[in-house]
Amino acid sequence: TDAAALLLSRIRDVEDHPEPGVMFKDITPLLADPKAFAVLSDALAVIAGATGATKIVGLEARGFILGAPVAVQAGLGFIPVRKAGKLPGATLSQAYDLEYGSAEIEVHAEDLTTTDRVLVIDDVLATGGTAEASVRLIRRAGAEVVGLAVLMELGFLGGRARVESALAGAPLEALLRL
Ligand code: 5GP
Repeated sequence: TDAAALLLSRIRDVEDHPEPGVMFKDITPLLADPKAFAVLSDALAVIAGATGATKIVGLEARGFILGAPVAVQAGLGFIPVRKAGKLPGATLSQAYDLEYGSAEIEVHAEDLTTTDRVLVIDDVLATGGTAEASVRLIRRAGAEVVGLAVLMELGFLGGRARVESALAGAPLEALLRL
Protein backbone atom coordinates (compact mmCIF):
# COMPACT_ATOMS: atom_id res chain seq x y z
CA THR A 1 0.00 0.00 0.00
CA ASP A 2 0.98 3.67 -0.25
CA ALA A 3 1.18 3.94 3.52
CA ALA A 4 3.53 0.96 3.81
CA ALA A 5 5.70 2.27 0.96
CA LEU A 6 5.97 5.67 2.65
CA LEU A 7 6.94 4.11 5.99
CA LEU A 8 9.50 1.81 4.38
CA SER A 9 11.05 4.72 2.47
CA ARG A 10 11.72 6.51 5.77
CA ILE A 11 13.64 3.68 7.45
CA ARG A 12 17.39 3.81 6.96
CA ASP A 13 19.73 0.83 6.95
CA VAL A 14 22.87 1.37 9.02
CA GLU A 15 25.56 -1.23 8.54
CA ASP A 16 27.53 -2.66 11.47
CA HIS A 17 25.46 -1.01 14.21
CA PRO A 18 25.59 -1.50 17.16
CA GLU A 19 28.22 -4.09 16.30
CA PRO A 20 29.90 -5.58 13.22
CA GLY A 21 27.62 -7.78 11.10
CA VAL A 22 24.37 -6.19 12.25
CA MET A 23 22.23 -4.17 9.83
CA PHE A 24 20.39 -1.69 12.05
CA LYS A 25 17.00 -0.32 10.99
CA ASP A 26 17.09 3.37 11.87
CA ILE A 27 13.65 4.94 12.25
CA THR A 28 14.82 8.51 12.95
CA PRO A 29 14.13 9.65 9.33
CA LEU A 30 10.53 8.49 9.78
CA LEU A 31 10.16 10.42 13.05
CA ALA A 32 11.55 13.52 11.35
CA ASP A 33 8.91 13.35 8.59
CA PRO A 34 5.59 14.60 10.03
CA LYS A 35 3.52 12.97 7.29
CA ALA A 36 5.14 9.56 7.75
CA PHE A 37 4.95 9.82 11.57
CA ALA A 38 1.23 10.67 11.31
CA VAL A 39 0.61 7.72 8.96
CA LEU A 40 2.39 5.43 11.43
CA SER A 41 0.48 6.78 14.40
CA ASP A 42 -2.86 6.47 12.58
CA ALA A 43 -2.14 2.85 11.62
CA LEU A 44 -1.24 1.95 15.20
CA ALA A 45 -4.34 3.75 16.52
CA VAL A 46 -6.51 1.62 14.20
CA ILE A 47 -4.92 -1.50 15.73
CA ALA A 48 -5.54 -0.12 19.23
CA GLY A 49 -9.20 0.34 18.34
CA ALA A 50 -9.54 -3.10 16.78
CA THR A 51 -8.05 -4.86 19.81
CA GLY A 52 -10.28 -3.02 22.27
CA ALA A 53 -7.24 -1.90 24.24
CA THR A 54 -7.74 0.23 27.36
CA LYS A 55 -4.04 1.04 27.78
CA ILE A 56 -0.96 1.39 25.63
CA VAL A 57 2.33 -0.02 26.93
CA GLY A 58 5.43 1.36 25.19
CA LEU A 59 8.79 -0.42 25.40
CA GLU A 60 11.86 1.70 26.13
CA ALA A 61 13.00 3.63 24.23
CA ARG A 62 11.50 3.84 20.74
CA GLY A 63 8.28 2.22 21.91
CA PHE A 64 7.78 5.39 23.98
CA ILE A 65 8.08 7.61 20.91
CA LEU A 66 5.70 5.47 18.85
CA GLY A 67 3.27 4.57 21.62
CA ALA A 68 2.69 7.99 23.19
CA PRO A 69 0.94 9.67 20.22
CA VAL A 70 -1.17 6.55 19.73
CA ALA A 71 -2.33 6.70 23.35
CA VAL A 72 -3.33 10.35 22.96
CA GLN A 73 -5.00 9.72 19.61
CA ALA A 74 -6.93 6.68 20.87
CA GLY A 75 -7.80 8.32 24.20
CA LEU A 76 -5.94 5.68 26.24
CA GLY A 77 -3.46 5.85 29.08
CA PHE A 78 0.23 5.33 28.33
CA ILE A 79 2.34 3.05 30.52
CA PRO A 80 6.14 2.85 30.12
CA VAL A 81 8.00 -0.45 30.41
CA ARG A 82 11.56 0.55 31.25
CA LYS A 83 14.97 -1.01 31.62
CA ALA A 84 15.65 -2.01 35.21
CA GLY A 85 16.46 0.71 37.70
CA LYS A 86 14.76 3.67 36.00
CA LEU A 87 11.25 3.73 37.43
CA PRO A 88 10.97 5.48 40.82
CA GLY A 89 7.99 3.63 42.32
CA ALA A 90 7.31 0.03 43.33
CA THR A 91 7.94 -2.19 40.30
CA LEU A 92 7.50 -5.66 38.95
CA SER A 93 10.43 -6.90 36.91
CA GLN A 94 11.05 -9.53 34.29
CA ALA A 95 14.44 -10.90 33.27
CA TYR A 96 15.16 -12.32 29.83
CA ASP A 97 18.11 -13.78 27.96
CA LEU A 98 20.14 -11.91 25.38
CA GLU A 99 22.62 -13.44 22.92
CA TYR A 100 25.31 -12.66 25.49
CA GLY A 101 24.05 -12.25 29.03
CA SER A 102 20.65 -11.11 30.18
CA ALA A 103 18.47 -8.03 30.59
CA GLU A 104 15.63 -6.93 32.82
CA ILE A 105 12.59 -4.74 32.24
CA GLU A 106 10.21 -3.19 34.76
CA VAL A 107 6.77 -1.62 35.08
CA HIS A 108 5.18 0.31 37.93
CA ALA A 109 3.05 -2.28 39.73
CA GLU A 110 0.20 0.17 40.29
CA ASP A 111 -0.03 1.19 36.62
CA LEU A 112 -1.84 -2.00 35.56
CA THR A 113 -4.86 -3.76 37.04
CA THR A 114 -6.97 -6.81 36.29
CA THR A 115 -9.47 -4.77 34.27
CA ASP A 116 -6.82 -3.50 31.84
CA ARG A 117 -6.59 -4.63 28.24
CA VAL A 118 -3.11 -3.77 27.00
CA LEU A 119 -1.72 -3.17 23.54
CA VAL A 120 2.10 -3.31 23.59
CA ILE A 121 3.92 -1.09 21.09
CA ASP A 122 7.55 -1.15 19.95
CA ASP A 123 9.42 -0.11 16.84
CA VAL A 124 11.21 -3.29 15.75
CA LEU A 125 10.65 -6.97 16.51
CA ALA A 126 14.00 -8.74 16.17
CA THR A 127 14.55 -11.95 18.18
CA GLY A 128 11.32 -11.31 20.09
CA GLY A 129 13.02 -11.51 23.48
CA THR A 130 12.00 -8.03 24.61
CA ALA A 131 8.43 -8.41 23.38
CA GLU A 132 8.04 -11.83 24.99
CA ALA A 133 9.33 -10.53 28.33
CA SER A 134 6.95 -7.57 28.17
CA VAL A 135 3.96 -9.87 27.65
CA ARG A 136 4.96 -11.94 30.68
CA LEU A 137 5.55 -8.84 32.78
CA ILE A 138 2.18 -7.29 31.93
CA ARG A 139 0.36 -10.54 32.71
CA ARG A 140 2.15 -10.82 36.04
CA ALA A 141 0.92 -7.30 36.80
CA GLY A 142 -2.58 -8.78 36.37
CA ALA A 143 -3.57 -7.22 33.06
CA GLU A 144 -4.64 -8.88 29.83
CA VAL A 145 -2.44 -8.45 26.74
CA VAL A 146 -4.77 -7.96 23.76
CA GLY A 147 -2.05 -7.49 21.18
CA LEU A 148 1.44 -6.44 20.27
CA ALA A 149 2.09 -3.98 17.45
CA VAL A 150 5.39 -3.07 15.84
CA LEU A 151 6.41 -0.89 12.95
CA MET A 152 8.75 -3.52 11.54
CA GLU A 153 9.28 -7.25 11.99
CA LEU A 154 12.65 -8.76 11.04
CA GLY A 155 11.26 -12.11 9.93
CA PHE A 156 14.59 -13.85 9.41
CA LEU A 157 15.28 -13.73 13.17
CA GLY A 158 12.26 -15.87 14.02
CA GLY A 159 10.86 -13.58 16.69
CA ARG A 160 7.25 -14.09 15.62
CA ALA A 161 6.96 -17.71 16.78
CA ARG A 162 8.41 -16.84 20.14
CA VAL A 163 6.09 -13.87 20.69
CA GLU A 164 3.01 -15.63 19.35
CA SER A 165 3.45 -18.47 21.79
CA ALA A 166 3.62 -15.94 24.64
CA LEU A 167 0.62 -14.01 23.25
CA ALA A 168 -1.56 -17.12 23.36
CA GLY A 169 -3.93 -16.10 20.58
CA ALA A 170 -3.72 -12.31 20.82
CA PRO A 171 -2.54 -10.76 17.54
CA LEU A 172 1.03 -9.75 16.67
CA GLU A 173 0.64 -6.93 14.13
CA ALA A 174 3.62 -5.76 12.07
CA LEU A 175 3.06 -2.86 9.66
CA LEU A 176 6.18 -3.88 7.70
CA ARG A 177 7.88 -7.26 7.36
CA LEU A 178 11.41 -7.82 6.27
P1 5GP B 1 14.57 -8.26 20.30
O1 5GP B 1 14.36 -8.34 21.78
O2 5GP B 1 13.31 -8.56 19.52
O3 5GP B 1 15.75 -9.04 19.82
O4 5GP B 1 14.98 -6.77 20.00
C1 5GP B 1 14.00 -5.83 19.94
C2 5GP B 1 14.41 -4.60 20.69
O5 5GP B 1 15.66 -4.13 20.23
C3 5GP B 1 13.39 -3.51 20.40
O6 5GP B 1 13.14 -2.78 21.59
C4 5GP B 1 14.04 -2.66 19.34
O7 5GP B 1 13.84 -1.30 19.60
C5 5GP B 1 15.52 -3.00 19.39
N1 5GP B 1 16.06 -3.35 18.06
C6 5GP B 1 16.65 -4.50 17.67
N2 5GP B 1 17.07 -4.42 16.41
C7 5GP B 1 16.72 -3.20 15.97
C8 5GP B 1 16.88 -2.52 14.71
O8 5GP B 1 17.44 -3.00 13.71
N3 5GP B 1 16.38 -1.26 14.64
C9 5GP B 1 15.74 -0.68 15.70
N4 5GP B 1 15.26 0.56 15.52
N5 5GP B 1 15.60 -1.28 16.88
C10 5GP B 1 16.09 -2.53 17.02
